[in-house]
Amino acid sequence: MKILSVNAGSSSLKFTLFELPEKKELINGTFEKIGIGNSFYTLKINGEKIRREVDLTDHGVAVKYLMDELINNKIISSLDEIDGIGHRVVQGGALYNKTVLVDEKVIKDIEDLADLAPLHNKAHVIGIKAFIEALPNTPNTVVFDTAFHQTMEEDKFLYPIPYELYEKYNIRKYGFHGTSHRFITNSISEYLNRMDLKIISCHIGNGSSITAIKNGKVIDTSMGLTPLAGVMMGTRCGDIDPSIIPFIMKKENLNADQISDLLNKKSGLLGISGVSSDSRDIEDGLNNGNKRCMLAQKMCVKTIVNYIAMYNNLLNGADVICFTAGIGENSILTREMIAESLSSLGIKIDKERNNVRGKFALISSDDSKIPMYVVPTNEELMIAIDTYNLIK
Ligand code: AMP
Repeated sequence: MKILSVNAGSSSLKFTLFELPEKKELINGTFEKIGIGNSFYTLKINGEKIRREVDLTDHGVAVKYLMDELINNKIISSLDEIDGIGHRVVQGGALYNKTVLVDEKVIKDIEDLADLAPLHNKAHVIGIKAFIEALPNTPNTVVFDTAFHQTMEEDKFLYPIPYELYEKYNIRKYGFHGTSHRFITNSISEYLNRMDLKIISCHIGNGSSITAIKNGKVIDTSMGLTPLAGVMMGTRCGDIDPSIIPFIMKKENLNADQISDLLNKKSGLLGISGVSSDSRDIEDGLNNGNKRCMLAQKMCVKTIVNYIAMYNNLLNGADVICFTAGIGENSILTREMIAESLSSLGIKIDKERNNVRGKFALISSDDSKIPMYVVPTNEELMIAIDTYNLIK
């Protein structure tokens, strides 16, 4: 079966076409700057990269180009060969704890949940509708970032604010990166041949979240009502004293959108270093003696270490710690600094084993109390597998 995995943003559309059950990637690509001018798309087929500048007035036009490319490159000979389309959706609220087939109610629910993820959910619906229009007979599924976290219990997902606000507005922790944490759980459980693992899954990328998992179920996770909470990230602040928000608003005369922008887009590694949100630039900076880059790196590591230690306690001792996503898979320095700060838990990194990027690998020494692994994530494949399982 050929399954398309789609991630639609407000002005972008990323896709990967898989052959399943072989898990073979046939083509992937990204359409960018949709509806905002200077639009273009890039494709990767058999290791070859193609870039074309075209006028992408809306998502429907991008889908049309995508279908033409699939046929012109002889990936498919007719659109009927696409057996299913899986869409990433950021916010499924408390309504969805698993992947579902798209129908009118599902679309309305995603729209209604836009209050909790305004930029993302609205864009996802535009993407879903564009594919339904282009391929009216092909089943679509939605895979929610929040679904895997729905096993959290009330004492973990509630905030200590008046209970009525939870009842009135559903203010609670939802958690994100669920598709990635589920992929990591499946990969490490399969590798160690154990389904009863206590896992601390560290998805550390531009956005980062740490999740505690027991017997395949999420116990707690670091992101919250929105992906702003938890550890310090590329441009997001993570957990801070909430009083800082009204304080800055008053002092800097900012409205709600402006303070949200400051905490989401100008904080984290970027805010502290003043240099970049990209961990490679931060590493370059600290290697060249930039003190603010060193400070940003140390602060970021500290917040990750705090969550790992807290979740180790919550799990009453983890069996395994996994690192994934851009930084988790590639930053040797970040993993080393995290492990060194966890020595009180008997964690020991093996520097030679840790000298690895983007590959599944054991990185702790044999006498480490908790083994640590790099486990590359693949959210697109997880979305395609879910879709395949639902429609086969
Ligand atoms: P993601 O959001 O998962 O795509 O991750 C993006 C982050 O991964 C950025 O901060 C990148 O700097 C970081 N990253 C990617 N490759 C490397 C690398 N080789 N070394 C350090 N950080 C990396």
